[in-house]
This record gives sequence, structure tokens and C-alpha cells, in this order.
Amino acid sequence: MPVKLYDTLSRSVKTLTPKSGETLRFYCCGPTVYGPAHIGNFRTFLIQDTLRRVLELDGTAVKHVRNITDLDDKTIRGSEAAGLTLKDFTARWTNKFHEDCKALNMLTPSTEPSAVAHIPEQIALIEKLIEKGHAYAADDGSVYFRVNSFEDYGRLSRLKQRELKTQSENSAGAVNDADEYDRESVSDFALWKSRKPEDGNNAWPSPWGEGRPGWHLECSAMVASAFGGETIDVHGGGIDLCFPHHENEIAQSECAHGHDFCHHWFHSAHLMVEGAKMSKSLGNLYTLDDLRAKGFSPMVVRYTLIAGSYRQQLNFTFDGLHASKSALSRIERFAETLLSKTAESPERFNSTYVGPNAPDDFGRLGKAWDALLNNLNTAACLGAIFGVIGSNPAAALDASGARALLHALGALLYALGLELFTTEAKSADAPAVIMELAQARWDAKQAKDFTRADSIRDDLLAQGWVVNDYKDRFELEQK
Ligand code: AMP
Ligand code: ZN
Repeated sequence: MPVKLYDTLSRSVKTLTPKSGETLRFYCCGPTVYGPAHIGNFRTFLIQDTLRRVLELDGTAVKHVRNITDLDDKTIRGSEAAGLTLKDFTARWTNKFHEDCKALNMLTPSTEPSAVAHIPEQIALIEKLIEKGHAYAADDGSVYFRVNSFEDYGRLSRLKQRELKTQSENSAGAVNDADEYDRESVSDFALWKSRKPEDGNNAWPSPWGEGRPGWHLECSAMVASAFGGETIDVHGGGIDLCFPHHENEIAQSECAHGHDFCHHWFHSAHLMVEGAKMSKSLGNLYTLDDLRAKGFSPMVVRYTLIAGSYRQQLNFTFDGLHASKSALSRIERFAETLLSKTAESPERFNSTYVGPNAPDDFGRLGKAWDALLNNLNTAACLGAIFGVIGSNPAAALDASGARALLHALGALLYALGLELFTTEAKSADAPAVIMELAQARWDAKQAKDFTRADSIRDDLLAQGWVVNDYKDRFELEQK
């Protein structure tokens, strides 16, 4: 059965298949690398990762491109404040992003192009748009997209030209008086921004003078270069990007290339924290590390972020995190019961059963798989899994029946990106006092104070916890 997915453009659920060739072209707006990504960003990236997994399990090859935004007001400001070059600053946060993605068991995209690495492509795109009458240079050396030259502008977010006249958001970053003055119309947006003192050394030569590309342009240029200028099948991003970012991507790309930019628009709703918008000033902005430090494993975080329907806002709470932890343990206990029937050990569950191979028949778990195919309904999928767990099927199964169910469960867990029996999950069960002791032992060992380290190890053992050391970390296991 093909994957069905809601499309923001047509406001309907449509079948998602590659429109030409075998491979589905999937582009996602990636992180702005000026700090650690927060759990809201990860909600969006995890949903995209889950879609890719479902498509691949369903037999569709996917070319997944997710860019790195390393050139905008925030990265420039951040690098200046840190006293680093833009390159070093963004490399630091790109690495951190990759570490978090790995911990969250996200698949690596096929390519991860960056804005800075695509300046010539962006300049070429602007030249094309000027040539075709869709863009114009202002006196200060900035270049703007002429919104009223593209009749279809606003079709994704269903904004009419006249409504746009009252919008001030469409300025690709901070609105400043000079921008307002130079633009023919307030809805026109910057493709090229002439050099400003606050840009520091981050300026590139262009036919219009030194400057840098406007933020919206990078995705049009990177999509064209990654997919050879062809129409892409699906484009993902958080719902906040629908206007103006995606609207502008459509305008730039369609005016330059003369054909549809994208067939299917995939937007995920935002994550809220305890009912409020996440923000630094409210002190409710969490990163993966914040939650790990509170004892929640990345698998528990992943579960929490993907468990709700992606088209509905997710209200993140600590109660919710605890509930996810119990839900994962319940799935683990279920897998253990099945494994006892096949006489296999839980340590081998992930490598034996969790992989990108869907069984021909999901058996009792068929409803769970159908839910994923039907608009990525992760909530219904998990509901169906717990329905099966609740019916206690293991009691009536022999080894081969248990193995078939384990294969179906493993495929679903692969689709959801969840791994069971991970060692960090075991550590995460340790109470805070035990974690602190274990950390003190690790610190002592790093400082080569082996007497203290050994004494804390004995202490932990007496309390029922074994410490396992790895090259750069430790894990706790209950005796
Ligand atoms: P940024 O790093 O700001 O460029 O955003 C990266 C991705 O995270 C984009 O697809 C955004 O739409 C998405 N995003 C930002 N905030 C949230 C949030 N609170 N919940 C879900 N997605 C978000
Ligand atoms: Zn984008």
C-alpha cells in the first residue's frame, strides 16, 4: 500500500510516490546552526525522519536532502559574539547537531548542503531572476524579488496580494528603514543584501557589490543543485516556515525554472511546552542535553516527540516524558516475553529484528502499520501496538508465531526509529543520587585518582549498581 500524506498546498491527503523515476525527492529545511537545536526543532526533524523510514520500509527509495543554514543574521551575530569566524562557529554547532541526531537515532540525510557552500549558485539564481524581470537591484546594491511579477504568489498559504501589502514579515530578517525605502513594494523580499557594518567579514563579491544572499534564497539554490533543477516530490518544514519562507522558495524557483517547484508540502505543527510557546525568556526552552541531564534517555525523548499526530501541536510536559518512559518499558517487557518463546536474548533484539525490512504480513500488528501508511498517524500506530500488547498474544504463540510477531514489531520500531534495551535507557533509570556518585567516580578516574574511583565503585555496587566504562563515557546497570 502506498504512503498517504497531507499536502498543505491542496489541503488534502494525497498518495506520495516519486513523480518521475524510482527515487522520491525529499527536501527539508534544516537547522540554523547558531546554538544547540531545541526539542521543537527536533520534533520537526524527527517527524521527517519517521516519514523517510516509513517510505523506505514501504519499498520507496528516498533521496533525502536537509540543508544547514550557516549564513543568516543569527549565525553572523553569534559568531561575532563568540569571537569566532563564521566557519568555525557554525562548524561547532553543526557538529553538535549531528551528535544529537545520532543520539536520537536519526538517519543521515543523503546530502546536507550548506548555504555558504552555495554562494555562486545563489548569485546565478538572482541573475536569472533579474534577466526574467522577477527581480531588481536597488541603489544600495541589494536585490529584491518583485512579488507582483509572480501571479501565483501566496498560493501555499492562501494569502492574497492585497493582504501581503499589510505584511511586514516578508523581509528575510530584520526589517530596516533602508530595506523599506529601497523596495518597490513592501511585500518584495531581499534576494541579495548589500554589505552592512554588522555583517563583519561575512560579505561576498557579486555583480551588485559586496553582500550576502537573503535567507529564503538558499533553499531554492540548494534544491536546484541537489536535484538537478527538477521538480521535487516533497518538501518538509515546521508550519512556521509556510509563510513567508516556503512561499518565497516557490516564487524564486518557479520564476527561475519555469516549472512546478514541489508536488507535496509536508508541514508539522509546533511543539509547545506546558501549554506555552517555547522561549529562552520563559525558561522553558529545552535541548536534548537538558533532558538527558534530567535522566531521560534520547529514546524516551524521541518517543515523546513523535508519539502525537504531527499535524497537531504537541504539548510537551515532564509528565508526558515519564509516560513515554513507561510506554517504552511496556514495549520492552512485551518483546522480552516474545523473546523468551524464541529463546533469544534481549541484547540481540535490535540487531535481529529492528531493520528496514517490512514483513509481507504484519499479522496482528497490521493496523499499526496501516496507521503509519495513512498520513503518518504515529498516535494510532502506538495505540494499535498497545492494543496488541494488552491482548497478551504471547500466551498462545509457539516459537515461530513469536518470531513472526517480533519481526512485525521490529519493523514498526524501525519505522518509529525506536530501539529497545539501549544501555543509556538503563542508566537513565538510575536515581539522581546514584548518577551523581557515578559521575564523581568518572571524574576521579579521569583525574587518575584511582583509589577514590575504586572506592566509589564499591559503594555503587553495594547499592546495586554496576558501572561499565567505555572510551569516553560510562554506563550504569542495575545488578
Ligand atoms: P531553525 O533552526 O530555526 O531554522 O528551524 C529548524 C526547523 O525547526 C524548521 O523546520 C522549523 O520550522 C522547526 N521549528 C522551529 N521551532 C519549532 C517548534 N517549536 N516546534 C516544531 N518545529 C519547530
Ligand atoms: Zn528552506
